[in-house]
Amino acid sequence: MANNETEADLTGATPRRRPKPDVLEVGGRKLKPATLMMGHGYDPALSEGSLKPPIFLTSTFVFESAAAGKRHFEGVTGKRPGGAEGLVYSRFNGPDQEILEDRLSVWEDAEDALTFSSGMSAIATLLLSLVKPGDVIVHSAPLYAATETLIGRILGRFGVTWLDFPAGATPEEINAVIDRAKRQGRVALIYLESPANPTNALVDIQAVAAARDTHFAGVEDRPPVVIDNTFLGPLWQQPLRHGADLVLYSLTKYAGGHSDLVAGGVVGSKAAINPIRAMRNTIGTITDPHSAWMLLRSLETLELRMSRAGENAAKVCAFFRDHPKIDSVGYLGFLEEGSRQADIYRRHCLGAGSTFSLFLKGGERESFAFLDALKIAKLAVSLGGTETLASHPAAMTHLSVPDERKAALGITDSLVRISVGVEDPDDLIADFDQALAQV
Ligand SMILES: *Cc1c(COP(=O)(O)O)cnc(C)c1O
Repeated sequence: MANNETEADLTGATPRRRPKPDVLEVGGRKLKPATLMMGHGYDPALSEGSLKPPIFLTSTFVFESAAAGKRHFEGVTGKRPGGAEGLVYSRFNGPDQEILEDRLSVWEDAEDALTFSSGMSAIATLLLSLVKPGDVIVHSAPLYAATETLIGRILGRFGVTWLDFPAGATPEEINAVIDRAKRQGRVALIYLESPANPTNALVDIQAVAAARDTHFAGVEDRPPVVIDNTFLGPLWQQPLRHGADLVLYSLTKYAGGHSDLVAGGVVGSKAAINPIRAMRNTIGTITDPHSAWMLLRSLETLELRMSRAGENAAKVCAFFRDHPKIDSVGYLGFLEEGSRQADIYRRHCLGAGSTFSLFLKGGERESFAFLDALKIAKLAVSLGGTETLASHPAAMTHLSVPDERKAALGITDSLVRISVGVEDPDDLIADFDQALAQV
């Protein structure tokens, strides 16, 4: 890298290379995320003029001086909050990861963000930073299966217990569960996932935040409201605006968007993020530079991809709704007017997403016949990619869920999960139409 442009830091103690200040507004107009994804957080002059950030494959970074090294370690170890001002060692941070974190936080106007090696490592790091033996985790149900395992079985081994409420719970039900949890132990956090998979039931984030505020008024370490926003974020639901403190992502899904990487993220206030960063520094669950770079590529088209996928899903769901072999479609665009779910949707959501449930007439035989006949849509779990995927939760992602619980969640043999991609919508409809003809 040429031209070691150094800039004295505010204390004058340690000089440090920093990107030039970004253009965040033009003519008094605050720039939109779609615009900022092309350059925010990156100064080409620091990398030989390269338009795109290089992938920084290095395990460690050279300090400008011993004093600079000391100062950076004060940041890394948490002696000074807010993380390192400079680059130290690739378990803590790196240029690709820092640019990615700057850009990820833009979508929700978050103060800070962290990225991780997977969605689950983001969730695990967050939980480890917040819980101690004797604590209770209050959560919405159902959760992503690995998250349920982590909370129920793994943290359970360390003396952490949990209490849950159904995703669509009323404020009264949410209040009652928090009340019980407080009597059981210190409430470490309130963990949500909305919409729930595969039911698509929405959680009332505003009601949860209000219940937390009432129950913990004047308490110093109020439990944060944390939400896994993988299914609708960051385009169609922005929970920080509705009272959540931390928002979690499997960036493997819509953010990555090309089904070619695994990564996770957390966004929120600096104060809420700091303990999670300290835990990530300790255990090393940060994204690798290559995946971080791939995600920078992906975020440039996030809005284009999600918008197109959302439009496609609306057309495809309209086709399914009128088809004689389809019993019903669990799609957020079809919520019953005047229902509580429709009210939550109106307050929280900016779009209905592109992942939905299809209930065929019949059972496993009909579902499998439909899935096996698909020619464009691929038979695979996961979601949020450019390509359309279809799967059978009862036989795949939720196979190990006990039968009673499956029944309670509405995971029947006639349920097919679909994540619509960015293909031509009429081609997709032609594919679904011919596949239904084989049922
Ligand atoms: C996929 C997913 C996860 C886990 O993310 P990975 O990147 O696979 O570790 C967590 N929550 C939800 C809602 C998901 O869909």
